Amino acid sequence: MHPVKGTHDLGLSAFGPEASFTPSKFSPKALTFIHTLNDIRILGQPKKIGIAGFFVGKTWISKGRVSVPGGYMSYQSLPLIIGAGPIGLGAALFLTRQGREVRLVEMLELPAKESRALAVNPRTLEILKPTGITRQMLELGLPIRGVCFHRQQKIFARLSLDGIHTKYPFMLGLSQASTERLLLRALERAGGRVERGVKLVDCHTSDDGVEAILQPTAGGTLKVAECPWLLAADGAHSTTREKLKIVFSGTSLTHDWYLADVPLRTGLPEDHAHVFFSAGGRLLFMIRVVDEALKETAEGQLWRVMSNRPEPLAQLVLAEQAGAPWWESSFSVSHCMVADLAAQEVYLAGDAAHLHSPLGARGMNLGLEDAWVFSELVRTKRLSEYNDLRRKIDRDVVRRVELLTRMAAAESPFSRILREFAFPAVVKTPVLRGRMLSVLTGLDHELPDFTGH
Ligand SMILES: Cc1cc2nc3c(=O)[nH]c(=O)nc-3n(C[C@H](O)[C@H](O)[C@H](O)COP(=O)(O)OP(=O)(O)OC[C@H]3O[C@@H](n4cnc5c(N)ncnc54)[C@H](O)[C@@H]3O)c2cc1C
Repeated sequence: MHPVKGTHDLGLSAFGPEASFTPSKFSPKALTFIHTLNDIRILGQPKKIGIAGFFVGKTWISKGRVSVPGGYMSYQSLPLIIGAGPIGLGAALFLTRQGREVRLVEMLELPAKESRALAVNPRTLEILKPTGITRQMLELGLPIRGVCFHRQQKIFARLSLDGIHTKYPFMLGLSQASTERLLLRALERAGGRVERGVKLVDCHTSDDGVEAILQPTAGGTLKVAECPWLLAADGAHSTTREKLKIVFSGTSLTHDWYLADVPLRTGLPEDHAHVFFSAGGRLLFMIRVVDEALKETAEGQLWRVMSNRPEPLAQLVLAEQAGAPWWESSFSVSHCMVADLAAQEVYLAGDAAHLHSPLGARGMNLGLEDAWVFSELVRTKRLSEYNDLRRKIDRDVVRRVELLTRMAAAESPFSRILREFAFPAVVKTPVLRGRMLSVLTGLDHELPDFTGH
């Protein structure tokens, strides 16, 4: 595979007006393109096929086979990662640090600014430590040392994180936007980059690898990248998953959930998350928003207020709104899992592979673990084990978070009773409390041991 350092649209008339070619790091002036075209079908698609290469001085550098589906030029590409959310960035970082070149494409022109995930768990801090990011995260973030459960303005149970991990006995409060910024900077320092404004529009697998059809997000020339493997980190609405018809099944809660990131005046301890249970199955969740790019005002600190009913700010308990919300959103809560995390040489990670409620604080954390395991399997040439190593772990996490969420969201009369009576007992019973903590902190399973490989 040849490194792709830049894109030169050569406008080769033999391939029609839209043909393009991304050949090499050499100047376009040094290129001579040679082709012999024959009509063939690949994976049922009509294509032309030929050879391609270029001269540097008198030396012919062969690019090998070049196929042209429907008149579009394809080119040999580096391994491809789709999506520069935390999981794509994490995977690219781990692989780049191994000295591997990968191509990371992202359809958005600019990074997302919304806070989204607010809690980084000890497992993620462990995984990221060798990259230097953990140290930076600890400098920016706020340790969250437990969860307080409130009813009628009183704390009825407290879940402490003391002792859950020798090095990081807390969840680190830090916004996903901050985490993504740190991942991106570390990736760039390691020599990688994000190719922005490029989206995957289709994808085919074959015994030779993967054909990814890419297009500028703004529209324009389609390009076919032939790559040895593709990592789909393209999020909950994954195009890769859809195009490869990978089954993604599960259940959804009846009610949408609502959130606001808003400045508050409150005496609630900021080193704890707070859960308020009230009548009719209502749930209010509050946690500090920590993001170095968001300026806090003297009037109030920024908090996330999230509820399973509309207008979360109208339900504030023990707190007063101190300014306009910085971000408001609503979302449906689903618990879904792909049937398979691999389809030939296409692999899925993060929200593209599994979805669950934000209550478990696992989505980004679990996805970063997928990315780390994936990169270690690339390093040890054991990619064929990815599905076996990750699917059961990811599926079990989705199930546990669903159980926790259904108990907390109390959508049925039965779960309301459970929440009223069984939940306080669970929190107070050491074995059950230990289980709940291990789910929340990502320590409910071991990581595979790659040392010695
Ligand atoms: C309110 C809320 C709170 C949460 N709290 C937590 C928490 O505390 N802890 C936690 O671990 N998780 C939490 N999560 C979950 C977390 O936000 C997600 O799990 C995480 O964003 C998943 O990362 P990802 O990289 O898989 O997907 P995404 O973040 O969705 O990134 C996917 C990227 O792919 C790009 N993309 C999509 N399609 C294409 C395409 N066809 N071509 C090119 N690019 C494409 C997108 O533009 C995007 O940048 C929370 C989520 C929400 C909504």
